[in-house]
Amino acid sequence: VTEGPGTAGSEALATLHRVFGYDAFRGEQQAIIEHVVAGGDAVVLMPTGGGKSLCYQIPALVRPGTGVVISPLIALMQDQVDALRALGVRAGFINSTQDFDERRVMEAEFLAGELDLLYLAPERLRLDATLDLLSRGKISVFAIDEAHCVSQWGHDFRPDYLALSLLGERWPDVPRIALTATATRATHQEITQRLHLPTARHFVASFDRPNIQYRIVPKADPRKQLLAFLREEHAGDAGIVYCLSRNSVERTAEFLTANGIAAVPYHAGLDAATRAAHQSRFLREDGLVVVATIAFGMGIDKPDVRFVAHLDLPKSIEGYYQETGRAGRDGLPSTAWMAYGLNDVIQQRKLIQSGEGDEAFRRRAAAHLDAMLALCETAQCRRGQLLAYFGQDADAAGCGNCDTCLTPPETWDGTIAAQKVLSTVVRLQRERGQKFGAMQIVDILLGKRTAKVIQFDHDQLSVFGIGQDLGEGEWRGVIRQLLAQGLLAVEGEYGTLVLTEASGSVLRREREVPLRKEPKKPTASRSRSAG
Ligand code: ADP
Ligand code: ZN
Repeated sequence: VTEGPGTAGSEALATLHRVFGYDAFRGEQQAIIEHVVAGGDAVVLMPTGGGKSLCYQIPALVRPGTGVVISPLIALMQDQVDALRALGVRAGFINSTQDFDERRVMEAEFLAGELDLLYLAPERLRLDATLDLLSRGKISVFAIDEAHCVSQWGHDFRPDYLALSLLGERWPDVPRIALTATATRATHQEITQRLHLPTARHFVASFDRPNIQYRIVPKADPRKQLLAFLREEHAGDAGIVYCLSRNSVERTAEFLTANGIAAVPYHAGLDAATRAAHQSRFLREDGLVVVATIAFGMGIDKPDVRFVAHLDLPKSIEGYYQETGRAGRDGLPSTAWMAYGLNDVIQQRKLIQSGEGDEAFRRRAAAHLDAMLALCETAQCRRGQLLAYFGQDADAAGCGNCDTCLTPPETWDGTIAAQKVLSTVVRLQRERGQKFGAMQIVDILLGKRTAKVIQFDHDQLSVFGIGQDLGEGEWRGVIRQLLAQGLLAVEGEYGTLVLTEASGSVLRREREVPLRKEPKKPTASRSRSAG
């Protein structure tokens, strides 16, 4: 491909200066833009904040006709269009929030060739009326934003994205550019196949976010830990706190507010007006904390988010990476902080088992969770592990800006401890035909005569009290790591512990079980030293 600084290149650069007021392209923007301006298809994998928008906005401005942007983020279209109009770009959108007249005005402008960019929700393209409208106008480029939504295995799957393969058939001469911040090989392949982009050129940016410090701490009292983290390291900073449930979102927001931190909740159970109000406060105000479910954040462009905190375990590394990626878009030091504990593992495993989907779906979900757990339990550089997951190389010596690099965790030989846990599970099952959850196992190991231990005569078991060398928190840590390593499994709605195929090799002393030592207290505060 010969794309020197020809006319396409200089026109693109001129547009960057004149319309957007920027001096230079970033990363691969220029190569991508020149390729699309010249009529080529492209698949662009670039992390959040990397500057994907310009990759289709500039081709739309340089090529004759209207650039059609497919985006699932209806709630943001008005903002995006307003921002473009403020720059003098003739942008518009068509979606379900408009009334008939507003839509007619947009359609007329499109047909008259008076729009540079037209944003559409994917479900619009199922309507013949929309396809008919598009056929009657002139289209410069199709941009498929958040293209990972086409992936059936991803957490953002939108069935309407599958229909986007028709764009290439109906408009073979219009270049298409698919963009996403999700970078696993599997998603990458699915985008290329399902959107029918076999000849597209692929642009894969580095997914490293060096200014984000990754930290994962053992969960004890998560809200208190969060409060200490915010007070010590991020007083007055804007940030996002992710929780799994709406209820936990509400309670955490109340807790922070009661402790003098400006925080608002955001989840799908709130009415649209409240959600919109909280979102716009977050974008406009300094130092507001949004406590949210994963419903919050996609497409939000706030450069100075200083931290993203997770009080619950994300379901996959893709989700974790996207959510933490909302921190530090301005390049300044930021923290991705997560509290993670035994209950997270049990809860997520239970969710997968009791959740919807067929066997294959469950296996995929379990594989995603396993990768996430491996990241949590690793004694190696977290950034290295993240990048490796996305198929990218990292500095073998470690990044120097994650908790495991800053405070290398100690490991210990947990073989005997693992055998104690597993024998307790075996004894209960073989001798009593019983299955119990982690709490009962720990009580038995510690030799605690709780009401439930007495009720089931568990103080008569030969394993009763064999674990007094460790404390309760340490035993929970051992069980958590055994679950994470697949040496123990969770079953049923009560989350009872059962053996796996791999458990036998530990019981037979055929393998060792190295475990990570639980830090006595959370990692020291160092986020400000980054950068
Ligand atoms: P993404 O969609 O990849 O998350 P955006 O397109 O929203 O990223 O860009 C992130 C931020 O970077 C925006 O504020 C954007 O204006 C800015 N930006 C993008 N490209 C450039 C550039 N070449 N020079 C300066 N700022 C840029
Ligand atoms: Zn590191």
